[in-house]
Amino acid sequence: MTPPPGLLIYSQRFSAYSYGDFHPFKVQRYRMTFELMRALRLCDPPQVQMRECPLAREEELLRFHRGDYLTALAGFNGSGCGGADFYFGLGDVENPVFEGVYDWARLACGGTLEAVRRVNDGSCRLAFNMAGGWHHAQAARAAGFSYLNDAVVAIKELVRRRKRVAYVDLDAHHGDGVQNAFYDSNRVLTISIHETGRDFFPQTGMVREMGRGKGYGYAVNVPLLPHSDDVILEQALRRVVLPLVTAFKPDLLITQMGADCLRTDPLTRLEGTTGFFELAARSFLRTGLPWVILGGGGYDWLNVARAWSLVWGTALEVPLPDELPEAFQDLLAEQGIRAYRLRDLPHTALPSDFYPAQQSFEKVLEFLERKLFPLHGLQPGEGL
Ligand SMILES: [Zn+2]
Repeated sequence: MTPPPGLLIYSQRFSAYSYGDFHPFKVQRYRMTFELMRALRLCDPPQVQMRECPLAREEELLRFHRGDYLTALAGFNGSGCGGADFYFGLGDVENPVFEGVYDWARLACGGTLEAVRRVNDGSCRLAFNMAGGWHHAQAARAAGFSYLNDAVVAIKELVRRRKRVAYVDLDAHHGDGVQNAFYDSNRVLTISIHETGRDFFPQTGMVREMGRGKGYGYAVNVPLLPHSDDVILEQALRRVVLPLVTAFKPDLLITQMGADCLRTDPLTRLEGTTGFFELAARSFLRTGLPWVILGGGGYDWLNVARAWSLVWGTALEVPLPDELPEAFQDLLAEQGIRAYRLRDLPHTALPSDFYPAQQSFEKVLEFLERKLFPLHGLQPGEGL
């Protein structure tokens, strides 16, 4: 029997929106990711089913977002609706308002809802919404380029259906919006690996943030020093993420795969490579859990296209070459870009950067093994 297909959610409409010429987030990355996946034959049936991204409905958004915030956001949707509403975090340089801003955010959110529903009902074994992963949005506030928190809205629906969900966030920034939404819940395990918030947006995600009340032990944070490389990222995955996800026994796994932890990202200081993304994708696939993959940050669009194509290829178990396909190289050449490699070359941080980062990680690990692992019946050294 052939396995159920992987669902790839995409829309030509992504390209219709713009945060502005000087904003680091470029919607162009979605089209380039899709073109690279297509050139690598990662969109072909019967293995892959393509699905147009639907718009999330207001009643779905209200499961998490406040009505007055949605009204304010919708008010900026039309053309010529300049201005700002700083109470809701709307209209500053970080979260600009632009024509279609509400439609854009509902589109990204609708894709995640669709992905979660199709994986949850078993019609797909896994799904990828590249336009999802807006992990900073709060119930009544835009933050970190995020207007609607697609993961939270979708997880709320699963929790209503009595499901247990593990949410793993690999973006270089702490997944604060998702953590906050489920801080009191023991039905949702949130794990975030990120660059330490000591001097970095959103200034949260410290190891001591572990949840509250019934949710104590169900929020997990692995803050890393700048320059942490694949060696450290892989330890965080093997020693923290995988043992906890396995012990939690979720009904569904959702991973946010922000590509800004790659070393060539212009906004962050971690030093990961695409090799880490492939390892993470292989590891998540091996859990055997129904799996929803979301996009996230990533401010070098070629990094995003390469990292997410490798994730999707790994998830589909399609062997991929080291080089970019010729058709994609031609597309890059049209834009005056010369690039050949699909995978990054191996990279390690300088010893003077690596050793402090490794020492810091070991302290984080020791704390989590001592304080949090026992709450899940785990022993120190699990995952070695
Ligand atoms: Zn990020």
